[in-house]
Amino acid sequence: MSDKFHDECAVMGIYGHPEAANMAYLGLYALQHRGQESCGIVTSDGKGLISHRQMGLVADAFKEDVIKRLEGQSAIGHNRYSTQGQSHIKNAQPFVVEYSQGPIAIAHNGNLVNGTLLRNELEQAGSIFQSTSDTEVIIHLIATSKGSSVQLRIVEALSKVRGAYSLVFLTLDKLIAARDPYGFRPLVLGRFPEGKNRGAYVFASETCALDLIEAEYVRDVEPGEIVTIGPDGIESLKPFPAVPHAKCIFEYIYFARPDSKLFGHNVYLVRKSLGRQLARESGVEADLVTPVPDSGVPAAIGFAEESKIPLEFGLIRNHYVGRTFIEPQQTIRNFGVKIKLNAQRDVLQGKRVIVVDDSIVRGTTSRKIIRMLRDAGAKEVHLRISSPATTGPCYYGIDTPTRGELIASANSTEEIRRFVEADTLAYLSNDGMYTYFDGDKKGFCDACFTGNYPVHFEDEGHIKQLHLFDALNR
Ligand code: AMP
Repeated sequence: MSDKFHDECAVMGIYGHPEAANMAYLGLYALQHRGQESCGIVTSDGKGLISHRQMGLVADAFKEDVIKRLEGQSAIGHNRYSTQGQSHIKNAQPFVVEYSQGPIAIAHNGNLVNGTLLRNELEQAGSIFQSTSDTEVIIHLIATSKGSSVQLRIVEALSKVRGAYSLVFLTLDKLIAARDPYGFRPLVLGRFPEGKNRGAYVFASETCALDLIEAEYVRDVEPGEIVTIGPDGIESLKPFPAVPHAKCIFEYIYFARPDSKLFGHNVYLVRKSLGRQLARESGVEADLVTPVPDSGVPAAIGFAEESKIPLEFGLIRNHYVGRTFIEPQQTIRNFGVKIKLNAQRDVLQGKRVIVVDDSIVRGTTSRKIIRMLRDAGAKEVHLRISSPATTGPCYYGIDTPTRGELIASANSTEEIRRFVEADTLAYLSNDGMYTYFDGDKKGFCDACFTGNYPVHFEDEGHIKQLHLFDALNR
């Protein structure tokens, strides 16, 4: 059985650059927020694929000697984070395999909804899997395909998988990127515009990676598109029937970096507008607005602007601590909030405080923060959340816990308010979440807020297991 169904990740691809490994490294460094469990880079020197994968953070995994070993002008890279199941090097990507046409490497962001089903079929037909990750299914499908070229094999493989994927593949002479027809997860194409690296290309999960390596954004890889870059230039295929797009709205709410242009819009500006709308919907009299750093900052700025209540940093973050959410155990997570955030008495004493965060998952962070604010002298604490209540898990690649652990799956806003011990609590409305897009909800997936899952899975073994898992965890 596949051990996991959440896969927050980042992917990078570099083609035609004399320092491909270095560029992939820097890109992964900029994309560290998308996954901190393990990372890896595979390069091609034209004769073979060279790989380095390691548990932990990019800056720790790639020292000078490692980068030096990763020779070649093309590379792919991956950051992985998953809470479920084994945290193990064998699940670190990119995966590399040899098949009849040579070596191929793959890096995946997203989550397949029929991964287990396909895996069982492949295993029955004799495939031997090295990892417990669904991504390996794609590699086996490519290896067993009868397609005459690697592109055709990829098309055949992807025609069998369902769910969310933003993928990069590396062969000896090609870099290939693919995005699922729904376009759940982001993937962009960039190029190096100047000097000796002119003509080199890059794929990245987010544009913040392009900024660091001074590549220019060309366009998003489109939903359902397969882009191949090789000795014959750049080629685009759209082999699958079109489906309504389902870009992840939660990337805007929380997951992506604010300085990225995501699905065509700057994330910071979207978040600020969510905060403004939140203030319009649920303003309250108070002395100051304070963000939960860093995730609540842009929304708090918008909220303060709209409500004309001063913005103050009542909570200061220690930047040398990872996200509290990363810690796998409840006890550590609770402790983690205190390590990460400190409330400023001189700012908060005697004040009516509006505290803004992007989302509530289990509710434990908010509860700790509100206690902290009160301990520092806040007279009233009004919690404002710049998204609707998170009621359902994500099956398409965002690491949300099981339904049973999501506080809003079984509790009303008033019950949650009591749990987190706020004076008032308000979420952003679902309609309000789309204000920035002129109310146009078309093209987005908001299943974690609405329960409208765009890829149906009831008939599939994998998701049946997920539901069972959910039920057991209630
Ligand atoms: P909780 O204590 O479980 O309610 O955690 C809520 C906090 O987790 C919020 O401050 C969010 O910014 C953050 N958060 C929301 N979704 C995720 C996610 N998928 N991964 C990591 N952190 C998250």
